[in-house]
Amino acid sequence: MTNQKSDVLIIGAGLTGLALAYYLRNENLNVSILEARDRLGGRIYTKRLPDQAALEMGATWLGKQHTKLHQLLVELGIKTFKQQMGETAIYEPFSTSPPQLVQIPQSEYPSYRIQGGTDRLISKLAGYLKEEQVKLGQVVRSIKLQEKQLVVKTEDQIFEAPTVISTLPPYLFQQSIEVHPSLPDPLLQIARGTQTWMGDSIKVGLTFADPFWRSGNLSGTIFSNVGPAPEMYDHSNQEDTHYALKGFFNGSYFSVTKEDRLKHLLVQLRKYFGKEVDHFLSYEELVWKNEHYTSADYTAPILPHQNNGHPLYKNSYLEDRLYFGGAETNASFPGYMEGAVRSAEEIYQKLKTRLA
Ligand SMILES: Cc1cc2nc3c(=O)[nH]c(=O)nc-3n(C[C@H](O)[C@H](O)[C@H](O)COP(=O)(O)OP(=O)(O)OC[C@H]3O[C@@H](n4cnc5c(N)ncnc54)[C@H](O)[C@@H]3O)c2cc1C
Repeated sequence: MTNQKSDVLIIGAGLTGLALAYYLRNENLNVSILEARDRLGGRIYTKRLPDQAALEMGATWLGKQHTKLHQLLVELGIKTFKQQMGETAIYEPFSTSPPQLVQIPQSEYPSYRIQGGTDRLISKLAGYLKEEQVKLGQVVRSIKLQEKQLVVKTEDQIFEAPTVISTLPPYLFQQSIEVHPSLPDPLLQIARGTQTWMGDSIKVGLTFADPFWRSGNLSGTIFSNVGPAPEMYDHSNQEDTHYALKGFFNGSYFSVTKEDRLKHLLVQLRKYFGKEVDHFLSYEELVWKNEHYTSADYTAPILPHQNNGHPLYKNSYLEDRLYFGGAETNASFPGYMEGAVRSAEEIYQKLKTRLA
């Protein structure tokens, strides 16, 4: 089997990998991307259903402070719209008292969603690549330094490049990819202590023919300490023609069946809205803990936002040929789409300097 060669090999076709390939597009380099899943986007995943609201199972919101992401969206001609919060929220502080209606303070920093779905960002970036540049279903298993090249093996193929960039969450990288010669211990320890942002979360969404939750003084915004869904929001499309409620589910329900999660969700929503919730069109969910190309079980407890942007992620390894990117490696907006874009831009600048 002959090795497939490129100048730059990116591991992972999430936002970081695709944004990096986009930034490199005019550098006259042969850039390839290896992606384990059979889809692009990684933690950006928009579930699309015919004639229903699209449901974001991964990244959904951005804010004005996410300046690099905004810049990229503008460059790509993608618009955003304000998350509908309404003026009141259902608030359930205690299991022993009924839910209350509370006033939502108007924020100076509202949240925005991407018009048409977050995956538009992914498909627009992918549009700058030739089909043969992205190889789906390629799970990288090992990286080996061999005569000024890195040899990257997947289940059944071998790739080779002088420069390789991993965009995997660092914890997943150190758990799933063998490296020869071994990476320095301090780096591996930092990676072992870097939580994969949202890797334990469960997203749930219900689509409906009518936004009944807006009647009276209500809005679809729910904050509950009782759960099992602690937060839900109106998730209708920007045109307000397709309707949905979407939010998070208590992560400890990862071990029960989809049917059970739906049953528990409906019990919660009936408390607020009555039997109308039973007339949903579709129920969709994603248990991110079960996604092998995002999460790996932690061998020790890890707190969120530790070690993000650690200086060791800024170094390059294996004779300056292996780089680490991804949302978790960014110090300013770790774990967020903004962090992914910043990480891609930082690596692009480094490669530009090195390859000039
Ligand atoms: C439920 C949820 C909600 C979120 N909400 C928000 C939000 O509202 N706002 C926000 O800004 N951010 C949010 N995020 C975070 C956001 O999704 C991430 O910051 C961003 O998508 C990370 O992009 P990335 O490319 O760095 O990593 P990833 O998207 O994780 O990309 C890594 C890629 O590597 C691939 N891969 C893994 N292992 C291998 C292997 N061995 N070989 C080859 N490829 C491999 C994966 O399949 C994946 O495509 C959310 C995330 C989740 C899960």
